[in-house]
Amino acid sequence: MGIASINPFTGEILQTFVPLSDAELAAKLDLAQQAFTQYRQVPIAQRAAWMNRAAEILEQDRERLGKIMTLEMGKTIVSAIAEIEKCALVCRYYAEQAPKFLADAPAQTDATQSFVRYQPLGAILAVMPWNFPFWQVFRFAAPALMSGNVGLLKHASNVPQCALAIEAVFQQAGFAAGVFQTLLVGSEEVAAILADERVKAATLTGSEAAGASLAATAGKQIKKTVLELGGSDPFIVLESADLEAAAATAVIARMINNGQSCIAAKRFIVTEPIADQFEQRLVEHVKALKVGDPLDRSTDIGPLATRALLEELDHQVQTSVSKGARVLVGGQPLQGSFYAPTILTNISPGSPAAREELFGPVAMLFRVKDIDAAIALANDTPFGLGASAWTTVPTERDRLITELEAGAVFINGMVKSDPRLPFGGIKHSGYGRELSHQGMHEFVNVKTVWVK
Ligand code: NAP
Repeated sequence: MGIASINPFTGEILQTFVPLSDAELAAKLDLAQQAFTQYRQVPIAQRAAWMNRAAEILEQDRERLGKIMTLEMGKTIVSAIAEIEKCALVCRYYAEQAPKFLADAPAQTDATQSFVRYQPLGAILAVMPWNFPFWQVFRFAAPALMSGNVGLLKHASNVPQCALAIEAVFQQAGFAAGVFQTLLVGSEEVAAILADERVKAATLTGSEAAGASLAATAGKQIKKTVLELGGSDPFIVLESADLEAAAATAVIARMINNGQSCIAAKRFIVTEPIADQFEQRLVEHVKALKVGDPLDRSTDIGPLATRALLEELDHQVQTSVSKGARVLVGGQPLQGSFYAPTILTNISPGSPAAREELFGPVAMLFRVKDIDAAIALANDTPFGLGASAWTTVPTERDRLITELEAGAVFINGMVKSDPRLPFGGIKHSGYGRELSHQGMHEFVNVKTVWVK
């Protein structure tokens, strides 16, 4: 389909875009390089002033910007506006924290003076997904720009209007034209862009296949990458948990963003004595969800972002059912790009629901004997992004924190991103971290200085 903006609720083609020609792309890479030579000299206080201005613009324009997302990829308008507000938060966070994160860090050695200095690398390519079209970009751009790098955004091909709106926010905020640019290109251009000497490093948020492909190119070019890939996060509930709080949170954690979140809880792992009660509550909460027009402020679940996603999700569900899974609620596509909020149980180990990421409103419920079995099942996945676990027993809590194989463990709460905490995964969920000071230090030269 190329680069097109299609409303997944109505199927209407909103706008189509001609991808950049080779000459246009080369001009943008040149501009990025020129901009970097000047931008890296800009005092951090000035960068912070522009970043704070970007936050203000986002807040003032939250309704319009949120609506672009809703129309382009179907997230509910309430969640879209909240996403814009979160982008403002991350801009302010890095505007405030950057002087501290980037300050020379002294070390005692045999030198008269030795320290670490953090310096920008140049143009960083960000290959981004459609599911949080603003948040994914801002959590890269705020630290990257504050540290003096310039950004090149290759956004998902189904959210070009979001991509252009983000570029406009940075320009309006005062950043020079080459400091943050959107490249309207298809994914087949990414390898050549990354191989270009004007591009110094890359970050990708998306599927395992896209991450592996980008990392292979980067490996040949010896360029740094950060990968934020898929997940099939466990959500463990043990006997001491507050069952109602766990069940209510479980539904939000699974159904957030119409079920299309990397850190959505996907596998619900519950011990036998409480399994019936938990299942009953989960079914009730899922049945109460309101599916409908994402622009309606009372809607809980909108459409999936594309028809291709719907078809893939349904294939995974039907294959899991043919291998023995039982449908407790939902289990089929509805009209248009909607998928019925679904719970599967009795899932056999080799089925897609057990092994793969299901990117839509489908919860998988597993019953286990005890905490040992819960941890073993939670870790029996190629992924390692987040994990949520519910218990009030301190020894259980400590085991869960230590033994769960994940980039984040949340006890008695759902996994979420927060500018103040690092975010990222292990295993096939990727490597490197975003957010916090770790995120800012991914794309800088950590320069050792030794003076006698
Ligand atoms: P995707 O198909 O991998 O697309 C993500 C981005 O990668 C898009 O910009 C896409 O461009 C590009 N791309 C695709 N194939 C590529 C290739 N071979 N080389 C270079 N770039 C390529 O992923 P998606 O289906 O849109 O997004 C959903 C996935 O993202 C899920 O697995 C989800 O868990 C993951 N995700 C992870 C995080 C995290 O922080 N860990 C956050 C959000 C989402 P085109 O659109 O032009 O194909």
